Amino acid sequence: MASVILPANPSPSRPGRFGVYGGRYVPETLVAALVELEREYEATKADAEFQAELHTLLHDYAGRPTPLYFASRLTQQLGGARIYLKREDLLHTGAHKINNALGQGLLARRMGKKRVIAETGAGQHGVATATVCALLGLECVVYMGDVDMARQELNVQRMRLLGAEVRGVSSGSRTLKDAISEAMRDWVTNVRTTYYLLGSALGAHPYPTMVRDYQHVISKEIKEQILEKEGRLPAAVIACVGGGSNAIGAFYEFIPERQVRLIGVEAGGCGSELGQHAARFRGGVPGVLQGTFSYVLQDEDGQIAMTHSVSAGLDYASIGPEHAALHDSGRAEYVAQDDSAALDAVVRLARTEGILPALESAHAVAEALKIAPAMNPRDILVVNLSGRGDKDMGILARELKL
Ligand SMILES: *Cc1c(COP(=O)(O)O)cnc(C)c1O
Repeated sequence: MASVILPANPSPSRPGRFGVYGGRYVPETLVAALVELEREYEATKADAEFQAELHTLLHDYAGRPTPLYFASRLTQQLGGARIYLKREDLLHTGAHKINNALGQGLLARRMGKKRVIAETGAGQHGVATATVCALLGLECVVYMGDVDMARQELNVQRMRLLGAEVRGVSSGSRTLKDAISEAMRDWVTNVRTTYYLLGSALGAHPYPTMVRDYQHVISKEIKEQILEKEGRLPAAVIACVGGGSNAIGAFYEFIPERQVRLIGVEAGGCGSELGQHAARFRGGVPGVLQGTFSYVLQDEDGQIAMTHSVSAGLDYASIGPEHAALHDSGRAEYVAQDDSAALDAVVRLARTEGILPALESAHAVAEALKIAPAMNPRDILVVNLSGRGDKDMGILARELKL
């Protein structure tokens, strides 16, 4: 399933393309399903009832708008830019994933699908999907790699409690990539009855666009909130990048605002060799993985490389295609922070602000710790805190010897 090829003639002007990236590289059996999904998704944009229900659920059920919190003690300690945290960690189920799961869950119901499948890495998308399926009365099956099931056991139990079936995946590296392959296999077999609720800005068109649109609310709120609090735009917005959904959500509204730096933080893992990290822009080359053309970590034979990160949610060999385009155009910058910097950032934020970030989000915090001190004290730095750290307590207890 995880084949890497270079498209002969990628056309930049087709829908679902971001520059040359994106597209729809799937088995024949899925093309009709993706076309139907695109059509149904487009129809919801003009469906006032659908939009009103989504808005109400985001507000009353998920807890939007999330606060934009001024981290005054951290700002004082670092002595540079004014640091704000966008508190997606305060959402119901503990991460930004619920924004997308609610949107697509309503879409699944509108399309008359009774069965929903999903993949999950750290388990946050699985939990969000299981939650929305419980809320809407839909059957739910979540695919999760065995490695991730072991390191995010709490989320496995949460999904089961919510009534979802969690299916372990024991092929390949037994992480997110393999869970996606298994979910795609299920979808090919059951496409008429089943909705595939993909969790990041990844995969074949229309997923990267649709997921981005459902996460766009993050940067719409940031812009409104920062203008109200400070009367000006931030100098930079920082977000961690796994597949890229929280980052594209936090960036999107600011793309036309050229003075706002957009900084994506990938997982630097435990070293710079292939297999030791998940920094796609540091060693990845363009290729096709799981339906889309983007940067992929692969070896010289085009075999997908193993990846490593202390955070399961960033541990993926490819990256959303819109980030590939933002990278090549230079509009966004991509850096990497390693496992130990992320762990240090968890401790720093916990003890300075009383906030336990998810290990994924801690990569973004680590970048802020690095660049804030050299910035002008008038500059504003917004860090998207994509999720809370409760799910990581097992890893944190072991790594930090708590
Ligand atoms: C899933 C997850 C991520 C990574 O996914 P993106 O699609 O890149 O946002 C980051 N942070 C948290 C808390 C997550 O649960």
